Amino acid sequence: ARKKAAVTLIQPNFKFEDMGIGGLDAEFSKMFRRAFASRIFPPSLVERAGIQHVKGILLYGPPGTGKTLMAREIGKMLNGREPKIVNGPEVLSKFVGQSEENIRKLFVDAETEYKDKGEDSSLHIIIFDELDAICKQRGSKNDNTGVGDSVVNQLLAKMDGVEQLNNILIIGMTNRKDMIDEALLRPGRMEVHMEIGLPDENGRLQILKIHTSKIKENNIMDEDVDLIELAALTKNFTGAEIGGLVRSATSFALNRHVKVGTLAGVAPDAEDMKVNRADFMGALDEVHAAFGSSEEELD
Ligand code: ATP
Repeated sequence: ARKKAAVTLIQPNFKFEDMGIGGLDAEFSKMFRRAFASRIFPPSLVERAGIQHVKGILLYGPPGTGKTLMAREIGKMLNGREPKIVNGPEVLSKFVGQSEENIRKLFVDAETEYKDKGEDSSLHIIIFDELDAICKQRGSKNDNTGVGDSVVNQLLAKMDGVEQLNNILIIGMTNRKDMIDEALLRPGRMEVHMEIGLPDENGRLQILKIHTSKIKENNIMDEDVDLIELAALTKNFTGAEIGGLVRSATSFALNRHVKVGTLAGVAPDAEDMKVNRADFMGALDEVHAAFGSSEEELD
């Protein structure tokens, strides 16, 4: 007799090391245990233990810390391809009933995809960026965004309806958890709340490694660049800002090879370009000048 194949949760060619997310290992594994572990157990055990799969995850925290990156990687991990990310405000329509219809359609699409692939297929996910735009506290008086309570109600109803369809997972992202209607954050809905905060020094080192991996591989990073030193100097930087710092240091290096004259051109030594420590320090100075950080904030 043929054994029923186990549910594949993680794509066979997926590698955690390839995710390109720095400093969020603890968050990732916590989320995996909380939100996905139940799905790798045999359904009979899940039933006997009375376990209900998690239907929704909320990733929250300041902008640029890797929420979208994390949601995207989870999508790839589960389905082996780039997931579709729905932008909260995109769902909204000025036409009566259209926003609700847009939400309904997202669920229909996910359900259809699931049915087409059959039961053994992986999880289907719906990712909402800027969830706060569509899930404001209902009845809030200072809500002049035109988002009616009915949009929130529709999402709640759809999430509750996912009950029969165990293979849909919703990931919401927001910078403003406080703005989200509480009903959406209750058990059975988006019950796993994961804070994605600013990276610590070790996290920043990981992120620096990720963002310099390409210039390093291509041999255009000078040996005098010390990532440990840079991790210490980038306190309070988000992942996005660290990415920006590396890009800006690289453009400093490029600029050294630009000859500005009557006929602007590239210096003949441009091929030997290296991004060095001074480029990073210049890029850091620029950030400090723009944001006016004082020295004591840096230690
Ligand atoms: P927002 O709330 O503005 O959407 P976000 O938290 O979703 O912010 P991302 O869009 O994931 O942030 O991050 C923007 C970019 O910053 C990423 O594409 C990536 O290049 C870089 N980045 C942010 N966080 C990290 C991280 N932890 N590791 C590696 N790169 C990161």
